[in-house]
Amino acid sequence: MKNKYEVVIGLEVHSQIKTETKVFCNCSTDFHSQPNTNICPVCTGQPGVLPVLNKKAVELLVKTALALDCSINKKSVFARKQYFYPDLPKNYQISQYELPFAEHGKLNISADGKIKSIGITRIHLEEDAGKLLHEIGSRQLDCSLADYNRTGIPLMEIVSEPDMRSPQEAAAYLTALKNLIEYIETSDCNMEEGKFRCDANISIRPVGQKEFGTKAELKNMNSISGVEEALEYEVQRQIETVENGGKIIQETRTWDPNEKITKSMRSKENAHDYRYFPDPDLVPVNLDDVFIENIKITIPELPEKRKERLIQEYGLPEYDANVIISDKALVNFYEDALNNTAKDAENIPKLIANWLTTELLGKLNNAKLTIKESPVKAEYLGQLVSFISKGTISGKIAKTVFEEMFNTNKDPETIIKEKGLVQISDENEIIKICQEAADESPKAVAEYKSGKERALGAIVGLVMKKSKGKANPQMVNKILADLLK
Ligand code: ADP
Ligand code: ZN
Ligand code: MG
Repeated sequence: MKNKYEVVIGLEVHSQIKTETKVFCNCSTDFHSQPNTNICPVCTGQPGVLPVLNKKAVELLVKTALALDCSINKKSVFARKQYFYPDLPKNYQISQYELPFAEHGKLNISADGKIKSIGITRIHLEEDAGKLLHEIGSRQLDCSLADYNRTGIPLMEIVSEPDMRSPQEAAAYLTALKNLIEYIETSDCNMEEGKFRCDANISIRPVGQKEFGTKAELKNMNSISGVEEALEYEVQRQIETVENGGKIIQETRTWDPNEKITKSMRSKENAHDYRYFPDPDLVPVNLDDVFIENIKITIPELPEKRKERLIQEYGLPEYDANVIISDKALVNFYEDALNNTAKDAENIPKLIANWLTTELLGKLNNAKLTIKESPVKAEYLGQLVSFISKGTISGKIAKTVFEEMFNTNKDPETIIKEKGLVQISDENEIIKICQEAADESPKAVAEYKSGKERALGAIVGLVMKKSKGKANPQMVNKILADLLK
């Protein structure tokens, strides 16, 4: 049944631009302030006030647009979008309609092991609306409270082309977009604080049909996995509706994360319902080449480029590189760790990648910590891997040292010294232990001498036990083989 239809998805992302003050007044954008303390006559829409554009908001939007390969419109215009709702004291929202700041960009995502380019239709600047509270904690109120701290906070709305063909591609797009924005630091992208929100448009069409089907718009998902789940549900609902002879109607639906279903909210407004017109209080904005060039040079190495470099420069496998670049803090940690090794052995980049992505991320995950909160410093991980690579400690002992590093924040050298964990690489000492072990294992020795090579394992095991795991394993193997010749 599913193969009869093709899924079409386009996403509208609202990302809060990282400014100290609001977009048309000087009120703070602090998320944690008491309700209605970050407000003034401008952002509460009092008569006679005039908005003044925050230049920083424009700069950060343009930076985002350039990172997404958009073309920047030299002239752009603010428009009023009229609607009546208690969270919107002016009864209109300042947004952009005909001339947004940026258009025609793209973002590459990996889908099914391939790179796919998703078109960005436009990026425009708009102000956020306030927040209505219908409950406090778990207590349902018998009225609604309005908090206007959020009105006038700058948002960049990033509208994609309807280029995605599955909920998984939609999730990959959101992950890549959030990652990119975090790299260039134009938004905090904190989804719990509503700083990265997504409206998902979805339709289905019979495979082979050219025209798009009627879309539904889904709202109220507050995580990327939530978006994916809501879209999965919606695919099924739309297919079932059509299969049962019904019609998809153009509407806005809300995702209920508890019941895990989408519910009809309202029929979708058309653009003409909003009666857009250019805002007479704000002059058109003209951006010149110098302004744009000055922003261009602030764009750091982006995730895709950085991934290529990890592969080229350090010989990392693509899989490892993908994991590591998925978070700016993680890739910074990786390169910090690497810069704290002697880099003399060629397998060091891969060793650090292994320790970082399996051991450290595993432990952080269990402890519910982020990489930024890691008790193990990047330079210490680099030092640990150096000790392994130089043969100071074995890989097995390194796990013990690492455990201790994680629990005590100490550096590996201190721990190795304190616990006397330095690997025994002194030949005479190892010969002594090997001899003892061989003497105590006459049966294994006889078996080995009669040609059963596997019997050596038992003797090696005994050597490791006697040396408390500290004997250099390569040396033990070699010396035992010599002894028993
Ligand atoms: P509207 O005017 O309803 O807001 P837009 O044309 O502005 O619609 O598109 C809004 C979003 O919906 C865009 O991200 C676009 O890619 C997506 N979209 C448009 N048509 C469809 C469709 N038929 N199916 C899925 N997504 C669509
Ligand atoms: Zn204000
Ligand atoms: Mg739209």
